[in-house]
Formats: sequence, C-alpha cells, structure tokens
Amino acid sequence: MNNILRAAHQYASLSLHIIPVCSGDHSGMSSNHLATCRSPGKQPLIKNWKKHGVPNSQQIDDWFRRWPTANIGLVMGVGSGLVALDIDGEFGGDTLIKISNGDNLSDAWQFSTPGGGMRYIFTAPKGRECRKFSIIDPNPNHAHSELAFLGDGSFSVLPPSKHTSGGIYTWINAPKFLFH
Ligand SMILES: [Zn+2]
Repeated sequence: MNNILRAAHQYASLSLHIIPVCSGDHSGMSSNHLATCRSPGKQPLIKNWKKHGVPNSQQIDDWFRRWPTANIGLVMGVGSGLVALDIDGEFGGDTLIKISNGDNLSDAWQFSTPGGGMRYIFTAPKGRECRKFSIIDPNPNHAHSELAFLGDGSFSVLPPSKHTSGGIYTWINAPKFLFH
C-alpha cells in the first residue's frame, strides 16, 4: 500500500474530512484534468468536496484505485471542525508571533510545506463563522510572504503529499495516534 493511501486510511479513522486532490507531478490525471487544472498537486478530484464528510475505507480505496498517485486534502471550516494557519516567509512568522501573543502553538498539529512554509491546524471555534483571510507582506519584493487563515470553503493539502516541486509535506507535530 503506498504511504499516501495508508495515511488516508489513518486520517479517516481519526474522523478527518479528507478528499483526494491531484498528484504533484500530474501523473495519472485525466486529459480533461490536465487541460483545466490551475494548481497541480492541489486541485480536488471530487465534486462537492466541501460537504463530503469522512470517507469510509471502501471510498478511500476506490479513490486510490482510480487515482493511485493522488495527494490528500483536508477540508477546513465549520463543517469539518478544523481550521489552519499557513505561514510563509519571515513576514508570516512575525505576524504569527504578533497575533498569537507569542504563544508557541504547541497544541496545534504542525507540518512543513515543501516551499519552506509552515502550517498549523487547530480545532475550529464552535458556533462561529470561520471566514478565510490573509495578511500579505507589504513588501512587493517578497513573494509568498504571508500569513493565511484557512477556514470555511478552503482545504489544506496534508502530509505525506507530494508538492509539484517534488518535495514532501512533512509532519512536525502529527495528530496523536498517527503513524504508530
Ligand atoms: Zn491538477
């Protein structure tokens, strides 16, 4: 069993709302997908992914039979009960320290993204709208330097997915009971 498929089953057993997203190198994707995808390695492969919920084992196996090289996405927001912070560049890190009042976020799940960024996943605040937003580095020379909040209507690629660069999303602080 490939390690992404194995991880998908473990995530589902933790009741995570995971979805298949396209492969980083676009191998195994349909010609229609290749013609329309604007974000290789990050495009959902199922319709209605925002409301799919937790897939059962059969569903996961079906997905990976159809797309053996798929990556995994995690749905964010009120429906899934989770939200994320995406930290890129020095500006992103500084902004995080500012808005968290220096809290080191040790309770959050954390993984590194192949572009050098960091992502933290938290429990969504109950009964509140979680609108996505981003705070972008005002310096125009700093591309991809920002703090982004991923809430309702967004999703995050999860480890051990492969980025289009060939790099791997890697857990730093993984959900408990994962990979043991
Ligand atoms: Zn794609």
